[in-house]
Amino acid sequence: MSEISKEYDFKQVEERWVDTWDESIYYFDWNSHAPQYIIDTPPPYPTGNFHIGNALNWCYIDFVARYKRMRGYNVMFPQGWDCHGLPTEVKVEEIHKITKNEVPREEFRRLCEELTAQNIAKMRVTMRRLGFSNDWSNEYVTMMPEYYSKTQRSFVRMFEKGMIYREDHPVNWCPRCGTAIAFAEVEYDSRTTTLNYLRFGSPLGDLEIATSRPELLAACVAVAVHPEDEKNRKYIGTEVKVPVFDYNVPVIADEVVDPTFGTGVVMICTFGDKQDVRWWVEHDLPLRQAIDRSGRMTEIAGKFAGLKISECKDAIIEEMKSKGVIYKEEPLDQNVGLCWRCKTAIEILSERQWFVKINPGEIIDTSAEIEWVPEHMEIRLKNWTGTMDWDWCISRQRIFATPIPVWYCKNCGEPLVAKEEWLPLDPNVSLPPVPCPNCGSEEFEPETDVLDTWMDSSISVLNVTGWLSDHKPRYPAQLRPQGHDIIRTWAFYTILRAKALVGTRPWDSILINGMVLGEDGHKMSKSLNNFIAPEEVMAKYGADAFRQWAAVGGSPGSDVMFRWKDVISGGRFLQKLWSMYRFSAPHAVKSDDAAPNQVDRWLLFELSTMIEAVTDSMDRFQFDEAFRAIRSFAWDVLADNYIELVKSRLYGPDGPEKRAAQSTIYAAIEALTSLLAPFTPFIAEEIRENLSGESVHTSSWPRPFGVNPQPEGCLIKEVAAAVRRYKSDRGMALNTPLAEIEVYSDLDLETTDLTGSTSSPVVVKRGSPEIETRAVEVKPQMKAIGPVFKNLSGEIIRTLTTMDPEDVARQRDSGKIKVKVGGETVELGPEAVEIATETLSAGKAVEMISLAGAIVLIRTGS
Ligand SMILES: [Zn+2]
Ligand SMILES: [Zn+2]
Repeated sequence: MSEISKEYDFKQVEERWVDTWDESIYYFDWNSHAPQYIIDTPPPYPTGNFHIGNALNWCYIDFVARYKRMRGYNVMFPQGWDCHGLPTEVKVEEIHKITKNEVPREEFRRLCEELTAQNIAKMRVTMRRLGFSNDWSNEYVTMMPEYYSKTQRSFVRMFEKGMIYREDHPVNWCPRCGTAIAFAEVEYDSRTTTLNYLRFGSPLGDLEIATSRPELLAACVAVAVHPEDEKNRKYIGTEVKVPVFDYNVPVIADEVVDPTFGTGVVMICTFGDKQDVRWWVEHDLPLRQAIDRSGRMTEIAGKFAGLKISECKDAIIEEMKSKGVIYKEEPLDQNVGLCWRCKTAIEILSERQWFVKINPGEIIDTSAEIEWVPEHMEIRLKNWTGTMDWDWCISRQRIFATPIPVWYCKNCGEPLVAKEEWLPLDPNVSLPPVPCPNCGSEEFEPETDVLDTWMDSSISVLNVTGWLSDHKPRYPAQLRPQGHDIIRTWAFYTILRAKALVGTRPWDSILINGMVLGEDGHKMSKSLNNFIAPEEVMAKYGADAFRQWAAVGGSPGSDVMFRWKDVISGGRFLQKLWSMYRFSAPHAVKSDDAAPNQVDRWLLFELSTMIEAVTDSMDRFQFDEAFRAIRSFAWDVLADNYIELVKSRLYGPDGPEKRAAQSTIYAAIEALTSLLAPFTPFIAEEIRENLSGESVHTSSWPRPFGVNPQPEGCLIKEVAAAVRRYKSDRGMALNTPLAEIEVYSDLDLETTDLTGSTSSPVVVKRGSPEIETRAVEVKPQMKAIGPVFKNLSGEIIRTLTTMDPEDVARQRDSGKIKVKVGGETVELGPEAVEIATETLSAGKAVEMISLAGAIVLIRTGS
C-alpha cells in the first residue's frame, strides 16, 4: 500500500474520481425485472449557471438515487433541460445585438439553440463536479425534435380528445414580453396607487365613482352599484355618461359591489381585473379593448391612441382635473398582478388563444393518490386548484418554443391540426401533406403562436418513463423532487397531463424541497449580495463538504440557510474520517478465524443499531437525521472509543484476538463507506477503493450484523472513558500507568482491552467494594462564621483548622461543633465547616468513580 497522506487532499481526490468514474454504472436497465425507482428530475432552465438552489435539490435527489441503487432498485436519475423561453431569446438578442424580428424565424431559433447547447455543457460540468450520479443515457433536451415531437403529439392527442380548444377569451398579458401568460405565472405584489374620484353625468344628478385606473375610461362598458345601496340605487337601470369620451353606459346592480369602498360605485372595464371579466360574462356586456398587445392605447382611446398606458393615465387625469371631473384623490394600497419573469404589471386582454381544459376535481383526486413529502405541502396544490376559474392558456406569442402544429386554411379559415404521424414539424416551415378537409384548398397560413414551456416540461415524467418510445412504458414514476415555488405550475400541470394522456397519476411520491436562504436569512439573490455559487464552495472545501451542508442544513420542505459553518464542519469531518482511515489502514484486515471479544461485539451491535436507524431515516427522506447518525458513529463510537480501546490488541502479538479487532475495524470501515456513499461519494470511494479495491458505488447497502445488545462491551467502554477523563482532569498523559484499577460489577467483564487502553492492571470483582471514608481536612466557612462571631471569627477559624478532622466531622454530624476560644466554649452550627474526605479501600487511599452498572476504584500509588 502506498503512503497515505496526513492531510486529506479533497481537490486531488475529487477531481481524480470525476475523471475516472465509469458513469455507465448509473444507467437505468430497461430490461431488468428488479423493482424500478424512476425519478422525474426537474429539467433546469439552461442559464449556464447551476445555482445553489439547484444544487441543494440535486443533492437530495442524489442521496435518494444512490441509496435506492444500493438497496437493489433499478434506479433512473435522468437529466433533462427545459430549454424554451423568453430569457434565452433576450440573451440572444443581447449577444448578437439584434431584435428577434430582424432575422428570419428559423435563424433566430438556431441562435437560441446554439446558446442553449453551450449553457447545458457548462452546467453539466458543475453537476459532475458535485458528484451527482445522473443517468446520462436518459438525458433529454426539450428543444430537440426527439422531445418536442412528444410535446406536439401530446397537443394533438389532447386536441382530439376535446381537451384543447381555441377561443377568444380574456388572458393575462405581459405588455413587455408581448405574450399571453397563464394565471400560474402571475405574481401579486402590493403597490401604492391613487384612487381618483370622478363624476359621470346623469339626469338624476352626477354619479360619483372612484377608480384607480382612469386610463381605462375608454374601456368602460357599465357601472355597478350594490342593490341595497341607499344613496345610489336610484341610478340602477338608467344610463350615465362616461366623462372625456362622452358615451353612455348602463348602471347595473350587483351584490359583489362593496358599498363601503370609494363611493360604492364601480366602473366595469374590459378589463381592469379578474372581477371585470366575471361581470363581463355574467351581465353579457360588450367588449371595448383600450390597450393593445404592446401596452399602448387603441383607437377607441381617441386622441390618446398610441400612448403608453402610463402616459395615457397622466394625460387623462390632467384633462379631467382641468375640467373639474376629478374632485378628490387619495392614496390606495393595491395588489397588482405582475409578470413572473419581468415583473411588469400585467393587463387582461381578450385574445384568440389555445386553452387546455382544467378539471379541478380530477386533479385533486389524482393528487390524493400521491404521497406528499412533507404532507402539508399538498394544501398548496388544493388551494390553487380551488381558485381556477379560467382554463390554462397554452399559446404564447414567442419564437423559441415548441411550434403549435396547426395551419389555417387561407380560403375558408378552418384550422387544420396535424396528424401525429406528421410530427415533429414547424407549420412555419412545412405545409400539411393534405388539402383543407373543409374546402379542398391547398393554401394555408401557419399558426405562428407557440406553446407555453410548461407544455414541454409537464410531460417530463411521461418522457422518462418511456411514453411514445421503443420501451415498454413504466409510468407512474416513483418520485418527483421539486421546489415549493412551482407546485401550482409544474406539479399541477404534470398531474393534469399524465391523467389526460395516460390515465394515471404521474408519480407515487412527490418530495418538496425548500429554497436556499443566504447567511442573512434572506432569499439568495445577486442584488442582496448574499449570493453563493456552488463552484466557490467546492473550490474552498470540496464537493463532499458542500453536500454535507445540504444533508444537515434542513429537512425536505423547509427553507435551508446557506451556512459556511456547516461546510467548514463538513470539511473537518472529512479530515477526521481520513485520519481515522489513515490509522486503521494497516490494521483493517478481513479474517476467518477471528474471535470477537465483548468490545468487538459491542462495536458491531452499535454499528447494527446505527444502520437500522439510518435506513429508516433514508426511507423517510430525513437526510439530516441519517447523516448525523452516521457522523456521530464514525466520530464518537468508532474513532474516539472503539479504536482507543483496541489499539493494544492491534499492536500486540498475532492471534485470534488481534485478528478480531482487525476484522471488526474492517467491517466498520466497509459499512461506514457504504453508508456515506450517498452523502460524500468522493471520500467514501477513495477509502473503500483503498480498503478493498472495489467501488463503493456498486456495493450494496449494509445490513445489520445480527448481534444482540452487548452490556459488557458497553460498560468496558464507559470504564475506559472514565479513566481517560480521570487522567485528563489531573493533567496526566493518557498512557500514564496507574497502580491498579478495580472494577466492581455484576457483569462478567473481560479485561484485555481495559488493561490495554488504560496502560494499567485491571481487576474485575463482583459486588460492591468495601470502602470507608476518612475526614482529612477541616475547611471553616467564613460566610457562616463571620456574621455571627464578628471579631472572634479569626480565632475560631484558626482553632478549627488545628482540631482533629475526624472529631469535627463527628460533631458536625450530631448538629453542633464546640470550639474553645480564649477560655470560652462557643457552639457552631453544621454550616460552619466543610470537611474534605478521602476514600479508603483495604486501608489504602483510592479514587472512586461511580458509573451506571459499575464502581471503579483507582489506586494511584502503592
Ligand atoms: Zn413579462
Ligand atoms: Zn378550407
